[in-house]
Amino acid sequence: MSKRHQFDHKSFRIHPGKAVKLDDISTEAQGDFTKSDAKNELKKDIEALAQAQALLWANGTRAVLIILQAMDAAGKDGTIRHVMSGVNPQGCSVHGFKAPTSEEVLHHFLWRPRKYLPAKGQIAIFNRSYYEEVLVVRVHPQFLEPQRLPAEPSGDALWKSRFKDIVAFEDHLTRNGTCVIKFFLHVSKREQKQRFLDRLDEPEKNWKFSDADIKERGYWKDYRRAYEEMLEHTSTEAAPWYVVPADNKWYTRAVVADIITNRIQSLGLKPPSVSDERRAELAETRKRLIAEED
Ligand code: ATP
Ligand code: MG
Repeated sequence: MSKRHQFDHKSFRIHPGKAVKLDDISTEAQGDFTKSDAKNELKKDIEALAQAQALLWANGTRAVLIILQAMDAAGKDGTIRHVMSGVNPQGCSVHGFKAPTSEEVLHHFLWRPRKYLPAKGQIAIFNRSYYEEVLVVRVHPQFLEPQRLPAEPSGDALWKSRFKDIVAFEDHLTRNGTCVIKFFLHVSKREQKQRFLDRLDEPEKNWKFSDADIKERGYWKDYRRAYEEMLEHTSTEAAPWYVVPADNKWYTRAVVADIITNRIQSLGLKPPSVSDERRAELAETRKRLIAEED
């Protein structure tokens, strides 16, 4: 049997209120992991996650919200596909956040996610999320116009107020039984270029390429700053951000699977308890079933 590797989850976690410099955080696989080690880890975690989800469902007192944010081509979709491949689809939902509809844009920015939040026993994955409201909207402030906001707060104070709203929203979710797990997939500009080139060069990948992606790449520095501030201000004890190196897909997937599994396991959930009275009833039912004539 292969040796069990342990990821140091703390090394990916952003300390609440600590200034973040993404240039100082590696985008590459860490430690002495090989691709085959990571694949083994992922396989084990997929099984462990399936069990953890079954327990989450049976226990029915807690929910899990997983948020994925990243630049284009960082691997959000593939990570979701691989990491969640073992879970029961009945207990899991995925929602992708595109530009808001004309109805959504006239509500406050935390109105949109509410109907996609996980019920007790469920896992919901947000592929992008309300965090776009302090990322793409910050990089392109013209997206604020259709929102018809009050004149104040504006400028820097607006983003600070949104960070506060998000922290309060996630505290509220946590206090009401939802475990919030947030990942930033940290891809380098060089690796993004390579992945775009693959999409252009390989005919079967052409469909993945969008002109908008190249346009957003032109705002790389602005996104960097927006991400750094967002990570600094919205990573909390209850709902921390994990910055996961994303230049090696096999590594990203293994780390994300390991963190999700670990967080669900540490909820310490138990299957619903069965009373002595109910156990006696079950024993009676069993007797009747055995005695049944074929
Ligand atoms: P993929 O490209 O892998 O299919 P994606 O998440 O990039 O996945 P797209 O349809 O390409 O999906 O992009 C969705 C776009 O919607 C992103 O550019 C995102 O920034 C934008 N978006 C999401 N939320 C908002 C928002 N609140 N306001 C404006 N734009 C938003
Ligand atoms: Mg895209």
